[in-house]
Amino acid sequence: MVESGIVQQDNQFNERINAKPFCDVGSSMTFYFDDIKHFMLRLNVLLLEINKQNTTMGSRRNFLEKLTVSAVGLPLLYQSNPLFAASEAPYQGPVLKVAIMGLGSYGTRVAEAMKDCKRAKLVGVISGTPSKIKDWQAKYDIPKKNCYNYENFDAIKDNKDIDAVYVITPNGLHKDQSIRVAKAGKHVICEKPMAVNADEAQEMVDACKAAKVHLLIGYRMHYEPKTVEVIKMRQNGEFGKVKFFQGQSGFTIGDPSQWRLNKELAGGGAMMDIGIYSINGARYMLGEEPIWVTAQETKTDPIKFKEGVDETIQFQLGFPSGAVANCLSTYNMSHLDRFFMTGSEGWVEMQPSTGYGPIKGRTHKGELNQPHTTHQTLQMDGMSQLIFEGVQPIVSLDGDEGLKDMKIIDAIYKAAETGEKVAISL
Ligand code: NDP
Repeated sequence: MVESGIVQQDNQFNERINAKPFCDVGSSMTFYFDDIKHFMLRLNVLLLEINKQNTTMGSRRNFLEKLTVSAVGLPLLYQSNPLFAASEAPYQGPVLKVAIMGLGSYGTRVAEAMKDCKRAKLVGVISGTPSKIKDWQAKYDIPKKNCYNYENFDAIKDNKDIDAVYVITPNGLHKDQSIRVAKAGKHVICEKPMAVNADEAQEMVDACKAAKVHLLIGYRMHYEPKTVEVIKMRQNGEFGKVKFFQGQSGFTIGDPSQWRLNKELAGGGAMMDIGIYSINGARYMLGEEPIWVTAQETKTDPIKFKEGVDETIQFQLGFPSGAVANCLSTYNMSHLDRFFMTGSEGWVEMQPSTGYGPIKGRTHKGELNQPHTTHQTLQMDGMSQLIFEGVQPIVSLDGDEGLKDMKIIDAIYKAAETGEKVAISL
């Protein structure tokens, strides 16, 4: 009896399916979705019926084979069908309305990634280049009232359409710009390095606290799935007692006239720009704060890398547990984006470890195979959740976290200059 009912109703379903393409998600979407839900329910009933029959016939294997095919097929049908994707309840929570300051290469990457955010939206720009403002207005549908330049952006305080400003300008400008944003009552998201030294970073932290706004640093790796997995493994003791971290961060820098090689705008050289990944990485991989630093600098091109602009620095960090980190930061070697960590029970190697991805890595247990998602999309959705719901990433990325990295950088420069072991307290 049950079977004939199924056949009858499934015939109706087939007729409807044949009447219109399966992937037509136009006005008939609800109609088809109802049909598919019905189909799934019928399928479940059919499975129960098969079970009953096979139990009667004693053919358990046959039943299991059919069940396996169905069990494999159902999720595939669900995942691959746009109707099911469309049926997921649309996000209705708060959306972080963001203005980007500094429409350069990384600002553009963030803007593109934000197209896929559901909790954050690009709504404004702050730029010193009028032609870029025009282009971005057209590209990202930004109204004129949400466009500012570096002279007038304090007026953002009267703009209710903007919740946060993402500062993506040269490092030497971060402090003043971030403090102005905080004083305008907007949350500050600031790129790494958050400033050019710890004193500046402290001023930013204090200003944001006084203004009661969030200060978040663009540490996108804190949301990256493979990185998060490794941190969880370490937290769960899967590497045993971690004893050693190695971080290698560097690339060969081109154009000698760029701001990254200008001490005033960059605050330093490779350490500020790329070495900071090994510093931050050592801390989140080992899960401790360093207590001492030693460092050695090598400069092969003093014309390109002027006074105060570091070319290559090797540095070591010591941790309270006895673990040590040995790291390399350089603007004059290629293909350096690698983390390695070992403990009493296991190890992890990641290469690339902090680039835009996909990140690749393996541990003593095998390949890390968490899916790649654009880092900046995860970061901006995550920051929105942090601001609106207080949901913290696995490792903090607030101003205090950025300040710790700046203190370590100060200590590394001091150690490189003096040749001494420099104690730090974070
Ligand atoms: P770019 O040079 O590509 O862009 C910087 C932008 O800042 C410029 O396009 C300009 O935008 C604005 N700007 C304002 N004043 C100046 C000035 N005096 N000189 C130059 N530019 C100025 O740099 P990036 O986008 O690569 O880097 C910006 C920041 O982002 C840095 O702090 C860097 O460390 C960080 N970054 C972070 C990455 C990450 O993965 N988290 C990756 C790359 C960079 P406008 O014309 O609109 O005013």
